Amino acid sequence: MGGRDHPVEIISPNNVLANAMLRTVDMVRPRLQAINPERVAFCVGTQINGAPHLGTSLVQTAAFLLAKATKRTFNVDAVVRFGALDNAPYDVRLDPETHHAYQQTYFHALGQDAVTNLIDKYYRGLFDSLADATGVDYEVETYTTQQNDPGFRHEFLATLGHLESIRWPLAPSHGQVHLRLPCPQCGWAEKRAERTQLRRAGSGGADFTAVCTDHGDYEVAVTSDSGGYLDLATLYRNLVKERMAARDHVTLSVMVKGGDWAYGCQLVDEAFALLPGLPPPPRIFTPMVLTDTGAKLSKSLIREGKVPPPPGARPWMLDVTSWDGDTDSYVDALVWLVSRMLADPKHFYRSYTTQELDRIMTARPAATTGVRAREMNLYRRYFDLVAAGRKTIEVRVCYPNLRNLAAGDHIRFICGRDDCLTGVKRVTRYASFEEMLDGEGPDNVNPDSPRDQQLANIRRIYGPEKEALGVLAIEIELLVSAA
Ligand SMILES: [Zn+2]
Repeated sequence: MGGRDHPVEIISPNNVLANAMLRTVDMVRPRLQAINPERVAFCVGTQINGAPHLGTSLVQTAAFLLAKATKRTFNVDAVVRFGALDNAPYDVRLDPETHHAYQQTYFHALGQDAVTNLIDKYYRGLFDSLADATGVDYEVETYTTQQNDPGFRHEFLATLGHLESIRWPLAPSHGQVHLRLPCPQCGWAEKRAERTQLRRAGSGGADFTAVCTDHGDYEVAVTSDSGGYLDLATLYRNLVKERMAARDHVTLSVMVKGGDWAYGCQLVDEAFALLPGLPPPPRIFTPMVLTDTGAKLSKSLIREGKVPPPPGARPWMLDVTSWDGDTDSYVDALVWLVSRMLADPKHFYRSYTTQELDRIMTARPAATTGVRAREMNLYRRYFDLVAAGRKTIEVRVCYPNLRNLAAGDHIRFICGRDDCLTGVKRVTRYASFEEMLDGEGPDNVNPDSPRDQQLANIRRIYGPEKEALGVLAIEIELLVSAA
């Protein structure tokens, strides 16, 4: 009865982190207990330079599903905050005399409108679909907007008094922090800040000088509410962003990052420890997508012909726009995949080769393809009746999230590890359970139970204040239920 027709088995060894927790989302619990915030924001940052690959989608999907799990597990509001890194280098050129590299960001090269178009093209549809599939809202903020925020600039200025010490964790090989202040005239900046110098730093602001290939020496004054564009190198940017986030006790920020960031965050933590007391925000590292050599899947290395595509690497894994289907079907596949990983900390706090991901995706049950379905949990005795096609009326009270339920929708009923897919044929609203049983006929609600017993059972599940919301009779037809 019910049951998955193709159980997809993921086998993962234990590890220190997984061994310490029951649920993947328990990573959030210590800080939730400590500061009791009003909401949790799962923050993902993505460079907006071109079509995303599977690794990017994994991080983003994990953020939405972790937010969903946080709402459910901890009964606190949760959202996803998408940081669009429009300071990614768009172009790099060499100074003809010094051979120093100069770079221009996407924002400086393309402008605000084109950046917005890029975000819309590659991410808006995906995020709308993820929000719809998970019931989690999201916000988008570009790096350009963030660096302009007085809080961010103030946090940056506060680090300058400690630059002598933090420059070592931020640039361990030479201590030369890459602080890019683009030329106000052309927007190009020294990639490695060779000739960028901090002249004066105080509580109100800081003065820098730098050199442009075309426009010579220039000065930039940075204050919290005005002054030049602040393009910080990756580690420095994360330090400032995380310190700003760590001060907010109303919204707890949780950084969701690809697994390779676990190495980089060690240096961010070193810098944190050298600054006045603030703990870094919680971070969740998502599974990496690996090739057969054990290296992280790199689209650019394959495109440049430096490595062959690894076994099992489907075109859509390298470029998600090659997915053979619409955005909703891609999101449904990802939600299914990442949910399997999240189901056990051992499956989540690890990495996957393209070959293993291909095996898992190929074994994906047919019931999960092509249909966007609401999920509803059922007690075993009711689930078995639905899965056998004997229960054709499901009863719920009229919670707000069911307001839009209509004929033509799909519901996936879940009981433990079993699920079955149904189609909604009709939704009828009643004032009470009694009225509903009279209207629908008790046999359609439960063929094995007399009317008065059904009434008693259902009122044990829903108290009078729930019944007062109104009662929904949902006529369903069984679509997929493996025997
Ligand atoms: Zn210039």
